Parts: sequence; structure tokens; C-alpha cells
Amino acid sequence: MTKFALYIHYPFCIKRCNYCAFVSSVIDDKIANSYQKVLLTELKQKADEQPWRDGKIRSAYFGGGTPSLMPVDFIEILLNTISNSFCLTPETEITIETNPGSDVNDRFKEFFKLGINRLSIGAQSFNDDELKLLGRIHSTDDICDAVQAGREAGFENISLDLLYGIPGQTVNSFQTSLQKALDLNPTHLSTYALSIEDNTPFARMVKNGSLSAPDPDLAADQYSMLIDVMKNAGFNHYELTNYSKSGFESTHNKTYWQRTPYLGIGTAAHSFDGQKRFWNTNSIETYIRNLKSDKIPLNNTEFISPPEQIEEQLYLGLRTSAGLDVDFARKHFSKNTLRELVLDGFLNIQHRKYLVPEKKWLLLDEVVLKILSTS
Ligand code: SF4
Repeated sequence: MTKFALYIHYPFCIKRCNYCAFVSSVIDDKIANSYQKVLLTELKQKADEQPWRDGKIRSAYFGGGTPSLMPVDFIEILLNTISNSFCLTPETEITIETNPGSDVNDRFKEFFKLGINRLSIGAQSFNDDELKLLGRIHSTDDICDAVQAGREAGFENISLDLLYGIPGQTVNSFQTSLQKALDLNPTHLSTYALSIEDNTPFARMVKNGSLSAPDPDLAADQYSMLIDVMKNAGFNHYELTNYSKSGFESTHNKTYWQRTPYLGIGTAAHSFDGQKRFWNTNSIETYIRNLKSDKIPLNNTEFISPPEQIEEQLYLGLRTSAGLDVDFARKHFSKNTLRELVLDGFLNIQHRKYLVPEKKWLLLDEVVLKILSTS
């Protein structure tokens, strides 16, 4: 029986944010209704295919977009379809993403009753000016309201997303945001450095000079402060961008880093069956049209060759606190380079694992490149 993580993408939001490059569009009820119908079609198709048929779900994740905008009765149908098609236990981690200010807090109780046990809230910043610049629809108060509503609904496991490297943000203002996030007592925090993505309002603003591009040195200082603050607050920095209280690491995210199978349903959703990766079309219209005419909404497939699998294991292992097996690394990569990286402080060895020291995690790409270029 294949064990896998299930991801369901809901590509609709109330408004597009200025930095957003995710596959999402402003919600249109008619299109969203059609999308919901074909989402079920794809889920049932995949439930009939190997290796997913009768598989055991390690975690389920409703991401987006803003999946908490899905009607509660539709989420119930989705969850029933999932549990009728696959093996799902009451302990399975089931996450739903939500964005403050989306007017959905009153649904949290229903989500919890349906078995969803983890809430991921897109806070991004606790500074109202930064939220406005980012084009978010919410205020700091809205984040607090969402967390409180989540707790009242019964959610113990609440994750917050935070951005740093926001233009105009300083180390101090990021620290203030971080402290406000910690005051809400989340069990998990995901932090991302803002990047300017093509075809976003931010990319246009940087191009016409009305916005300065994020300063990588400042972002590095913010990251360094973040590590210290999170350690003092008792969080485990278990992956480059993720921190958790003990026992609250994200089972779902770990699937990606451990290279174990995952099934993605919805536009742009990626899947991995252990040998190959394949992903759906980015176009919501094409996705709906294909499934309505019983066609697979696939965009592309990539077979991972054995050397590529080894490279992936290197990169994914070193980005987590679980590290990379020493024997594996010495078998596949230059022992001299590994030794040099240890001597230069870019790698540590603990319990027969190579680990990139926390403060050097931002240099992960350079470390990996050095290992690959000399092997
Ligand atoms: S809420 Fe998230 S997915 Fe939606 S537009 Fe903003 S950044 Fe993109």
C-alpha cells in the first residue's frame, strides 16, 4: 500500500496580492463552482489509478489561493470522497490554509468538526503599512481575530506565515512583527524572504522605480535575528524556512523534503510517485475544460534519473535539521570537498549526519553547488 501526502489546490482569492506569483485568481462564483465539480472528478480519477488506489494518506493539505473560501458542504464532500477512496485515520494531519480578512472565521468550527486539525494562517506581517504595501486585504487585528477564532473552534495546531525582506522593513520592524506573532502562541511558523516575481505588480513597481528591490544583506540580517528569536522562544528550526514547537513539525511538508510520494489535485498541483514528477496545467480554464471532457489536465511529466535523485537527496537533506547521511554523502560526492566544508564551518557532523549550521542555511545553494561541482 502506497503511503502518500495529498495536496488539493483551490486557486481563488478575494484579491490578488502585489507580490503573488502563485496560481490563483480573483474569485468568480461561476468559475469556482465549475472548478469544485471537476476537482472531485480528478480526485476520483486518481483514486482509481496506481499507485494511489487504496493508498494510505500521511497528510492532507488544502492550499491555494484561499481554500477556506470553499463552501463548508463542499469541503465535507471532498473529505468524504478522500476517506472513501483512501485510508485516512483520525490522526492524519489535515491542514487548511486561510487568509485573515476573508470573512471565513465563522467556518472554523465546521472545519474542525469535519476533522481538519491544522490551520495555516497567511499573516505575512504585523505592521499595517507593510500589509498595505503587500496588497493584503487584512490588518494586524484581523490576524489576531483569525487566531482567536481558530482556538475557539478547537484548533491546537496553528501555523502562521511571515514574510521578511519587505521593502522598507528593517531588522527592528521585522522583530516587532515576529514578537507579535509569537505573542499569539502559534505551534508553527513558516517564514519566507520576499522575492520579486515576474509579472507581479511588485515587479512592475521595481522596474519603474516606485519600489526598491529587497536588499539581500538586510534579509540576511533579518534571518539571523529570526533564528535567535525563535530559538529563545523554544522553537525547533527543523527546515530552512520552518520552525515548530516540539511535536508540531508539519508532516505534510516533510513529505516533500523526504522525497516520499505525494499526489496533487487541482490546477498547477504537482505529484511525485517515487520515480517521476508530473504536474497539472496552470490554467484554470484548461483544467476545467479538460476534466469536463474526461481528459487528464496534465501539463508535463519529468522522469528523475538516478544521478538527479542523488542530487535531490543532497539538497533536500541539507535543508533540514535531519541532515544528510554521512555514508551516503561520502559514497556519492567528493570526500575532500566534504572535509573542506567541515573545516570551513559550512558543514557539521552529528550522529553520522552532515548538517549545515543554522546561520549558514542561507548559503545552502553555494554549499550544494560546491559539492556538485567537485564530484
Ligand atoms: S492570498 Fe496568497 S495566494 Fe492569494 S493572492 Fe495573496 S499571496 Fe496570492
